[in-house]
Amino acid sequence: MDQLPYIVFGSPIIDGDARAAVDKTLSSAWIGTGPRVHELEEKFALLAGSRFALATSSCTAALHLAMVASGVGPGDEVITTPMTFCATANAIIHTGATPVFVDCQLDTMTIDPAAIAAAITPRTRAILPVHFAGRPAPMDAIEAIARKHSLLVVEDAAHGIECEFKGKKIGSLSPLTCFSFYATKNMTTAEGGMITTNDEELARKIKIWGLHGMSADAWTRFSDQGYRHYDVIFPGFKYNLTDLAASVGLTQLPKLGHWLARRERIWARYQEALAGLPLSLPAPPAADTVHARHLYTVLVRDDARVSRDELMTRMHRRGIGTGVHYRALHVEPYYRERWGFRPEQFPNAFAIGEHTVSLPLTPKLSDAEVERIIAALNEILG
Ligand SMILES: *Cc1c(COP(=O)(O)O)cnc(C)c1O
Repeated sequence: MDQLPYIVFGSPIIDGDARAAVDKTLSSAWIGTGPRVHELEEKFALLAGSRFALATSSCTAALHLAMVASGVGPGDEVITTPMTFCATANAIIHTGATPVFVDCQLDTMTIDPAAIAAAITPRTRAILPVHFAGRPAPMDAIEAIARKHSLLVVEDAAHGIECEFKGKKIGSLSPLTCFSFYATKNMTTAEGGMITTNDEELARKIKIWGLHGMSADAWTRFSDQGYRHYDVIFPGFKYNLTDLAASVGLTQLPKLGHWLARRERIWARYQEALAGLPLSLPAPPAADTVHARHLYTVLVRDDARVSRDELMTRMHRRGIGTGVHYRALHVEPYYRERWGFRPEQFPNAFAIGEHTVSLPLTPKLSDAEVERIIAALNEILG
């Protein structure tokens, strides 16, 4: 049996800085939502080029809050892609609105603007693009459609902290952009998220909806400024991030650029080393964009010796964890049954979902580990 340690898919770097920051927060008077969260919000807004950044307990919470704060509700339709994680569509459904899937493009795996335009009805309220795998969605085309039909744009940037589109940071473009700090994401606080916006009124609403509908947060109530009363003005949710989590995130923000460079090198090595195998490799990023290199996803072609699932089993036996991002949402039982979708309705998303596998891509991987992954793929597929 292989004596080498298992390569855990999506394993994050947790270094001495993160450990020291958690220790310091634990030793302070405050571990809940307080000064570290506020500091993370300020620094994240600077990074994203947005006026406001509001921390949340997850990107799922961020997406739900974005929908609620902008008044999306029953009777509304929100257009999104089936090539995403279920949280994207569930955030729409939780408001009582209807998720309207449109297909993605086969090469970029991001939402197809022509399909968005074709799906607009008088009930359409918003478009929810996903920066899939870290590749920016075609925001110029999406913005043009939104402007023409007066639609809201909410971006799912769970994969896209480092993304840029035509010289602009993702997070600065749309009314609302949602980020994830989940354990496998490019920046992680174990669980956590962020919403960016340039709209002061939306920022205020998100803050209140995200903390019980209360007009002042706990730090404002209990800090050394003295106790202050609050009013409950909405029936809100509890979606706040903790200082404990934020203190980890604060140590990672300055390292994201360095980590992205490492991700880019691993990506380039895969592209070169896997070119001869029966795999469809990811398209190069479009000019004028920064790809966040969150996932390296390949399609196992039909002429390969093994299926996608068999490939994953054999990689696992060699001590290498892989992932599937994603089986198309419209074929998952809930969406298929409740919303009546058929697999062939979105052929690109369906084909990707049946053939895709994600290889490990984190800055934590050593060169030797990357070569081990390549050698395993050569053995299985070559
Ligand atoms: C991870 C992810 C989410 C949800 O993020 P959480 O922080 O885990 O709630 C939403 N959308 C996409 C595309 C994701 O990958």
